[in-house]
Amino acid sequence: MMRTPLVAANWKMNGSRASVEQLVRALLAGLPVTDSREVLLCPSFVFLDQVAKLIAGSSIQLGAQNLSTEKAGAFTGEISGAMLQDACCRYVLVGHSERRSLLGESSDVVARKFMAAQQQGLIPVLCVGETLADRKAGSTLDVISEQFSAVSDAAGIEAFANAVVAYEPVWAIGTGETATPEQAQEVHAALRAMAADRSARIATDLRLLYGGSVKAANAAELFSMPDIDGGLIGGASLDAQEFLAICAAAAS
Ligand code: PEP
Repeated sequence: MMRTPLVAANWKMNGSRASVEQLVRALLAGLPVTDSREVLLCPSFVFLDQVAKLIAGSSIQLGAQNLSTEKAGAFTGEISGAMLQDACCRYVLVGHSERRSLLGESSDVVARKFMAAQQQGLIPVLCVGETLADRKAGSTLDVISEQFSAVSDAAGIEAFANAVVAYEPVWAIGTGETATPEQAQEVHAALRAMAADRSARIATDLRLLYGGSVKAANAAELFSMPDIDGGLIGGASLDAQEFLAICAAAAS
């Protein structure tokens, strides 16, 4: 089993050219040159080029937070996978819960974005997660299964050889409330089992990230669980020292 830990920063709609420069310089200064884990930054589109230039020659990877389902053409305001590839992105988030809930992205749209990303040579980070109402109703694993299956049925399980899945309980995102390591592990194990039902080989190598109020104080405990291969970090990724500490927790 060789799953390289991945710590991904989702900066969401935050930052300015000045704050981005400061943050990336602090990360470059704090991260080891050769790394046993992967560190990924997902800034807003307008900062991609700036971050690409700052991290050039380092081991830090670049990703975007969203992409269009379409390849090119009359889609005003949209950004294609090809453009992201051209802007030095290697990864792209797909189906973040904020986009599913606030922007009405259905599982079908998420599946199309996942495939569009791969067609352009990007590695999609597929986000899945249940709401608090889902969890209280006992339907967590049904929701996760629906969100995962929508993509694996459309793209095929082999597509997950070049993808990452992030489990992000909606009730834990930006709320300060974190899933316990045991709660997260339960869903991660279920996700790996869902993948294994389709291909044991793909399931073994699939990286599963946890996201939802991860911070320096809880990262090591979460990352020590057998099926948690890193994290997707929102709020805490905007603070260099906090994010560096989370990265360190993934390497140990
Ligand atoms: C996220 O938005 O992906 C996330 C995990 O946010 P936070 O860490 O702020 O909960």
